[in-house]
Order: sequence, then structure tokens, then C-alpha cells
Amino acid sequence: MTDRKAQLAENLARVEERISSACAGAGRARDEVTLIVVTKTYPASDVRLLAELGVRHVAENRDQDAAPKAAACSDLPLSWHFVGQLQTNKVRSVAGYAHVVQSVDRPKLVTALSAAAVSADRELGCLVQIALDAESGERGTRGGAAPEQLAELADLVAGAPGLRIDGLMTVAPLSGHYAGREQAAFERLMELSSRMRVDHPAATMVSAGMSADLEQAVVAGATHVRVGTAVLGARPRLG
Ligand SMILES: *Cc1c(COP(=O)(O)O)cnc(C)c1O
Repeated sequence: MTDRKAQLAENLARVEERISSACAGAGRARDEVTLIVVTKTYPASDVRLLAELGVRHVAENRDQDAAPKAAACSDLPLSWHFVGQLQTNKVRSVAGYAHVVQSVDRPKLVTALSAAAVSADRELGCLVQIALDAESGERGTRGGAAPEQLAELADLVAGAPGLRIDGLMTVAPLSGHYAGREQAAFERLMELSSRMRVDHPAATMVSAGMSADLEQAVVAGATHVRVGTAVLGARPRLG
């Protein structure tokens, strides 16, 4: 094994141990939680090593980096998640490789994603990104719709050709009512998920938790955690 592969294997084992203990502590089965490794800023060679180590879900937040990486790794059995703020002029590219777009936060993006999915002849899974610190009608500083917009966005996605409504996603807010209260933030997300599933029973994905707060997300009930730093190492700033 190369040094890098051994290092990734060790980091993955440590993250796996954290997820397993959090599941055990919460009385959840380990297979209720899927690990998504956030590979942003890291090269395609790392994605390849991760795939060899058994990773099946990877996430990226910038199309400029993600598109060539996904192309270089198209032979690997990976699901690609897009988790960054998404401009409509990038949607056509993203629809060419993403399996799930986790950052759906406005009607205009739904329309653009739907058109791109149809013309690429692909079905795209969509998560509505919730900004728990956003006021009604506004978006969060890191993207995301205010909770009041969830029902409208979910209905729009569900009715859009080429798109599938899979659930919701959040990043624990750094400011506002939930700042420093990750557990409470993720519990709020779970309430929103329950409400959403009344109208969209198949939208069971709850994507929450990163390197620093994956335990809180697992305890709250997240089905997917998005882990970057703890697997790949600290990114240079601006990532
Ligand atoms: C970068 C990123 C992550 C991973 O963050 P880490 O702290 O490195 O684990 C998760 N979700 C989103 C949306 C991100 O942009």
C-alpha cells in the first residue's frame, strides 16, 4: 500500500469507529447511516484510492473541480453528490455527472436542473438544503432555503421532469439561534424531515453532520454524514 493509501485507510477506520459508536450509543443500526466522503480540493488520485478502500459515495462543492475529477473517475463504482452553492450556468455540467444534488435552495435552480437532467437523459436525486438561520424568504450565507420554503421547493422538485425528491440537507449554522447547538439544529432538521415525508414518503434522506459534528447528526437521526477533513486531512483555506 502506498503511504497515502495507508493514511486514508487509517483515517477511514477512525471515522468508521466514530460512526459505529454514535450509532451504538443512539440505538441505531450501523447500516442506517451512509458515509459520504467530501473530496473537494483533493485530487482524483485520492478519489481512486478511496474507492479501492470501499468508499462508494463522494461529494464535491465546485463544478470546476468536480467535473474533471468525475470524468477521471468515471470507471469507478461511485455516487457523486454535489453539495456546494450552485449557479444556474453550472447546472448543465453538474447534471452530467452528479447522482444527487444536495444544495437545491430556490425555484430557479429546480427549473434549471430539471431542464438539464431531461436533456442529459438522466434522473437526478435532489435534496432541499435548509439554512436553519435564514429568515423567511431569504437564503443562508452558505446557501440553503429558509425552513418556510421547504414544502414549496419539495413539491416543485417532485413535479419536475428528470428530478427525484430524496430528502433534505443542512450545514449546522455558525450564527443565529442554533450557533454552537449542533444537536438542536439537527433535531430541528429531523422535524422538518418528518413533516416533508407526509407529502413525500420516499424522501427519506437526511444529510447532516461533518467532521466536527457527525456524532450529533447520527444521534439526531441523520441518514448521511458528509466527512472531508477527518478522512483526507485539513484543506488549505478556501475549500
Ligand atoms: C466541506 C463540506 C463538508 C465537509 O466538511 P469537513 O469539516 O471537512 O468534514 C460537508 N458538507 C459541505 C456542504 C461542505 O462544503
